[in-house]
Amino acid sequence: MKLKFKINKCYLLVHSLNQLVLPFEEWVNLQNRLWEKYQKAYYSITHHPEVAFVQDEPFQGFDITVEEIKKLVKDGLESKEFNALLKEAEKYFTELKKQWEANGKKALAILTELSGLNFPNDEITVLITHPSYCKGFSMPSDKIISIGYLEDWKNASISYLCHEIMHLYTLNTPIMHALIQLMTDNELRIRLNNEGKYFIFEELPKNNSSYLYQYFGKLRELERKIYPYWQDYLKDRKGRTIQDLEQEIKLKLK
Ligand SMILES: [Zn+2]
Repeated sequence: MKLKFKINKCYLLVHSLNQLVLPFEEWVNLQNRLWEKYQKAYYSITHHPEVAFVQDEPFQGFDITVEEIKKLVKDGLESKEFNALLKEAEKYFTELKKQWEANGKKALAILTELSGLNFPNDEITVLITHPSYCKGFSMPSDKIISIGYLEDWKNASISYLCHEIMHLYTLNTPIMHALIQLMTDNELRIRLNNEGKYFIFEELPKNNSSYLYQYFGKLRELERKIYPYWQDYLKDRKGRTIQDLEQEIKLKLK
């Protein structure tokens, strides 16, 4: 498996318009300018793609928005705010590439051992975003990962890269996702750093009704629930893969 690090400017721009966290304070000025100038296009590439369907004639909105989106992207790419963002993304790109060159081989070996999977010899494109977003995303059909994480603990980005690699090769069920969290965010991190413990992450506020908080809150509960099965698997895999373990847990939790 080979990771090819890359900055895709259009992706970086649109991804950055979609975040709840700003990469830096002035970014909101660009968001406001683009929204005022290209309202419909802006909605369609951020959180409201349904604007293309608001007219009585279905799909009519698409013809208008595609042209508008092109103009919006062009304007965005030429802005001073994007230029500043690009510089920060380039800095993160250099750091992450360096880290992967130093530790990637070791991380992949641990991942192979923990998952029991024979990873194909794919070339994976890693699109670098911005560390403030603390977000990873994977697109299995195109073997693409996008990543931007604060290095708030040693080897954080490497562990999260491995997390996304696992998403490329497994189905995203709640049990598998919880297993990936145990495998990469916990066990792999500890092995890479030669120290540390499980479940170091902050508790999520239970009263926050946002979808993400609800989803990750439940995921963390599930992680603790299946932790004994995971520990058992770590002691002796008995030839099983992570996918076998997922099926076993699924039956046991029924
Ligand atoms: Zn995930």
